[in-house]
Amino acid sequence: MSAQSALLLATLSLAACSAAEIPTPERVPAPAAAPAPAAAAPSASAAAPATASAAAPAPAVPRDPNVDKLQIAAQVDSRAYDMVRSLVDEVGPRLAGSLGDKAAVAWALRTMKEKGLENVRAEKVMVPHWERGPESGRILAPHGHTLAITALGGSVGTPGKGLEGEIVMVESLDAMAAMDEAKVKGKIVFFSAAMTRTKDGSGYGKVAGIRHRGAVAAAKKGAIGVLLRSLGTDHDRLPHTGAMAYEKDVPKIPAAAISVPDAELLERLVGQGKPVRVSFSLGAKLLPDAESANVIGEVKGREKPDEIVLIGAHLDAWDLGRGAIDDGAGCAAVVEAARLVLGLGARPRRTIRVVLFANEENGLRGAFAYAKDHAAELDKHQLALEIDLGAGRAHTTRFLIDEASRPLAERIASLVTPLGLQYDKGPAHGGADLIPLRAAAVPLVDLHQDATNYFDVHHTANDTLDKVTKEDLDQVVGAVATVAWAAADAPETFARVPEALRKR
Ligand SMILES: [Zn+2]
Repeated sequence: MSAQSALLLATLSLAACSAAEIPTPERVPAPAAAPAPAAAAPSASAAAPATASAAAPAPAVPRDPNVDKLQIAAQVDSRAYDMVRSLVDEVGPRLAGSLGDKAAVAWALRTMKEKGLENVRAEKVMVPHWERGPESGRILAPHGHTLAITALGGSVGTPGKGLEGEIVMVESLDAMAAMDEAKVKGKIVFFSAAMTRTKDGSGYGKVAGIRHRGAVAAAKKGAIGVLLRSLGTDHDRLPHTGAMAYEKDVPKIPAAAISVPDAELLERLVGQGKPVRVSFSLGAKLLPDAESANVIGEVKGREKPDEIVLIGAHLDAWDLGRGAIDDGAGCAAVVEAARLVLGLGARPRRTIRVVLFANEENGLRGAFAYAKDHAAELDKHQLALEIDLGAGRAHTTRFLIDEASRPLAERIASLVTPLGLQYDKGPAHGGADLIPLRAAAVPLVDLHQDATNYFDVHHTANDTLDKVTKEDLDQVVGAVATVAWAAADAPETFARVPEALRKR
């Protein structure tokens, strides 16, 4: 039997059979009437919002048949991969403010409507509009070599025909701060720190500050430009872009990333002790802010429609690649999860809200606009998650919650263990777009994905559809759908996150 006919058979039997017949190893006997009666639900409008009690053990709740339906549908009927393909092929690069960004907003509105989501709308966000322009670079001495180079997002362009100068190599921001100004003045600072490959992506966090703040640190010592060893774990001759920032009253100097092999060559040349000279030219420019949008669609709740479980991803993507893993995969996972919930024929108590955020990559304007536009209802956000670590399988569930809500979190986490996710007591960090929600005490959940290979292509021209594996993406869809459904349908309400736990 071909894999396709097996899938078709499974799909047909899913559609035809009752929940009690769904064959999963984790099933427990289905209750006569599912799910738990609404009368058991504490009222969210009570003066003191009810929360899961830390003292009470998790109730022995029969497994919800809707969870099984969602997990099977994610395996046999997911359209997430086709959605990424549509975004990648029909829109492609979509950096904030660009024509691709506008096309992405139109794509998201069209796609959410096609998938049957409710209250689909675009909420306007003004975003920075930065353009890369032509760029090139060369090692001039001790001998010539063309660099694989790209501007960091937000960098100023180089003046005239470009910059030329001697390299001064530095490994970290601390080392930069300790440098003697006389050794840096008039030179091009090369940040040489290497990123380490890790399953949880933590290697990125250790060096991301250099990309963000390196130009300011170097300019404070009189440097004329910055080159950065790409924040990537590959050895391709492709540079990794990413956001950087300037500071008021510090000269704005051009900053670019070079590919890892070029950075290693530069490091060896500097190590020989002779002067190393490079030149580079960046045509980057910052234009006036442009209009973009957060695109939102919902599955309306049956009992508490004003309470929200937010499942998000970011719609924008860097201009070098096609934005397949960052973050086309995340967009598809959350939209598809909502579509599968709509296909259940049952509604959760609360509303599931899909948010595709604008401008995550170089400004987080969409995230802050969402928090501002929805300030009055943030205390009604039951739980929020963002999928923004590629298209790898999810392996760990973590929550950022008040301890009083631990039993509820553990119950939700137990529902995704059949998909291969372990429960870790946390805390969750939330995606970058959830930073303002975290500050507003909204409970968060991470479905941590395998990021082992993510930073090989992250922010490069290699972020293309072939890096997405359908089976892995569908596993993420199943996990998102399960967690969204379970949090939205839970009788209990998550307590707000205490201030001491909100710091990142
Ligand atoms: Zn991303």
